[in-house]
Amino acid sequence: MDELSRVGQSEGVAPTPTSPAAPTGGGRRAINRLHEPGASATTSPQAFAWSRDADDDDAPVGLNFGAMLGGKARETTEISTVNPLAQAFRAGPPSGLANALALGGMVAGCAVGAFALGPSGLLVIAALEALAFAGGLLFSRAALQEVERAKEELEYEATHDALTGLFNRGAIMRKLEVALDGHLKESPVAVLLGDVDHFKKINDTYGHQAGDEVLREVSQRMQLSVRAEDSVGRYGGEEMVVVLRDATTERAGTLGERIRSAVCGRPFATVAGPIPVTISIGVASTDRLGRVPPAELLRAADGALYRAKESGRNRVLAAAARQR
Ligand code: GH3
Ligand code: MG
Ligand code: MG
Repeated sequence: MDELSRVGQSEGVAPTPTSPAAPTGGGRRAINRLHEPGASATTSPQAFAWSRDADDDDAPVGLNFGAMLGGKARETTEISTVNPLAQAFRAGPPSGLANALALGGMVAGCAVGAFALGPSGLLVIAALEALAFAGGLLFSRAALQEVERAKEELEYEATHDALTGLFNRGAIMRKLEVALDGHLKESPVAVLLGDVDHFKKINDTYGHQAGDEVLREVSQRMQLSVRAEDSVGRYGGEEMVVVLRDATTERAGTLGERIRSAVCGRPFATVAGPIPVTISIGVASTDRLGRVPPAELLRAADGALYRAKESGRNRVLAAAARQR
């Protein structure tokens, strides 16, 4: 077996052997000795060791480099055991500067292995390994940040409606469940169920694109009309839900009224010209209904919305207390 081994420290300081085993020639043997169990550099948590077997020349550079960063993985063949860098490798290909640095680091790492033959090489080796290590760290940080960003994007897409940017139906229902779970008698939870009036006619008259613009604008006006702690979601089509914490029927009605006048207050500017829009809203709050499941609160709001439509639209009506 023709094996090259080498031990260094992550700070890139040349690993000066303190024992009498300092190499005096026959560098390969000396370097191997540094790798022996009990050698101070290997016991430090910061230390890293990298050994390379002549038979492993075909091993992927990532594997070698991962092993080097791993600290003690002299015989490592399993990249997944190594470190965040390895995880980043598995998470997907890196990009940009991080990629270049990491590749540079890995190439430097391989060169170190190939030339780790003599004691005079140690300084160069340390510098190269420091480079490789820094490259690897930068790479893994950038890659992990990218993974984090991608996760946030996925999370956003899974919980938001693509057209309006509001919470989607699933997300707003979860908001309602959570609000009702934490419901206290003195801190009632309310929902507003809004439905754009004669929206089909808007589509038919001004076109679907203008209809989309109306939905986006309605959503924005709703969002601007409620409190920061309230959640607005798209329930489906041209129906929106607002979940309100700490809102009696009266308080929720006031917020509903604010939404209604924000919508009908001025025409919507669209590609097809200005469009007058109105909205009907049903309100239900636990101050009248008691502790009910989310579906029941929504059903009550829907009943009120139905009455608002029946009685002429462009109005806010609230669900009455339940008959006992
Ligand atoms: P009402 O006043 O009784 O609510 O009448 P309406 O016309 O608003 O209600 P209806 O349920 O008859 O029509 C809703 C329309 O909304 C039908 C559907 O094509 C349209 N719609 C649903 N989703 C979208 C969307 O994402 N974009 C556009 N442009 N239209 C949509
Ligand atoms: Mg509808
Ligand atoms: Mg409608």
